[in-house]
Amino acid sequence: MNLEKASYAEIDLGALAHNLSYVQQLAGQDKQIIASIKANAYGHDVLLVAKALQEIGVDALATGSLDEARLLRTQGITLPILLFAFSTPRLTVQAAIEGYIPTLTNLEAATTVANALKKPAAFYLKVDVGLGRLGEPINTARHFVEEVVNLPNLRVDGIYTHVPFAQTSKSDWAERKLQSFDRFITDLGNAGYTFPLTQAMASCCLLAGFLDQSSAVCVGHALYGLSPFESDSGEGINHLKPVMKSVKSKLIHIAHHAKGSDIAVGGLYGLERAHTVGVLPVGMAHGFCRPPGKDIPVLVRGQKCRVLSVSLEHTTIDLSGIDGADTGDSVTLLGRDAEEIITLATLADAWGIQPLEVLMRLSGKFSVRTAETQAS
Ligand SMILES: *Cc1c(COP(=O)(O)O)cnc(C)c1O
Repeated sequence: MNLEKASYAEIDLGALAHNLSYVQQLAGQDKQIIASIKANAYGHDVLLVAKALQEIGVDALATGSLDEARLLRTQGITLPILLFAFSTPRLTVQAAIEGYIPTLTNLEAATTVANALKKPAAFYLKVDVGLGRLGEPINTARHFVEEVVNLPNLRVDGIYTHVPFAQTSKSDWAERKLQSFDRFITDLGNAGYTFPLTQAMASCCLLAGFLDQSSAVCVGHALYGLSPFESDSGEGINHLKPVMKSVKSKLIHIAHHAKGSDIAVGGLYGLERAHTVGVLPVGMAHGFCRPPGKDIPVLVRGQKCRVLSVSLEHTTIDLSGIDGADTGDSVTLLGRDAEEIITLATLADAWGIQPLEVLMRLSGKFSVRTAETQAS
């Protein structure tokens, strides 16, 4: 029996294709595209997204999770899968043996990995141009590269860095960092060290309009129609379409309570007027919430309703004023219903977090299906 789920999320693969083609346009037709699908494809469902990207055409996928990489391989994804620095040398060796392309970020780990391998495997090297996180610092990176290429069993297929910036006011900083990576790669080339792939730009650099000399870009945010910047206003954002189209549930119960009723329902104690209260099977367990004092709307029959309370597995909403609301009616938590829309930004504002954090809370909690794309 194929029972329809009461609650589900819809992703728009047409929007994904649109965003990818915009990214390619920004990057230039010659640049390879590595699609970042970490964290369950930024909460969109890693398998559906990877299958779509493979069909539309990207050059590689990148994730920080060996489990995710394994899932994709067993489900028919044949694209190269790059692993961002993700674990200990022992697991890095295992990942390389299984055919993924792990990242090496320092000489000590590279040496351990090289000695543990029995035959050659492919790796990427990561250089830190100034984020202060993972990767060999650019000042010592030349030595790192020279040592690594002499280690046994390591085939260096690429070299990359990461220059994220969330405030557009930091774009000068980022541009300088990109240039320092370009100089580093040029110097290496002049000394006879070349690699099949070089990469430095992620969504922020592309959307800021930067160009560099690397052969590839690695993008996540932009593919999903998300802004990598703290404010949504950064250049280029307006061209993107949201891939997370909607999150929906259904009314599973409706209660009518008369004025003066001494009940306590959905945060109402004693009713000064008649109320119609609806219940949906979505709660904190699904990442939904209503911070104290915040008004969160949902949509029923194309109209806004106020959320009264969110408990572990249920949400109650005020249906007063919604004509003809009935059990089984669709409830939109995110997305459009007729003329009304709840955007990711609305929800993020109400929850007091960033849009991507909203997606992370909902990630994996809803069955995800693909939406029909509307022509636009
Ligand atoms: C996540 C990640 C990216 C992609 O960044 P976006 O801002 O989502 O485009 C690129 N490179 C590295 C190393 C990453 O971890």
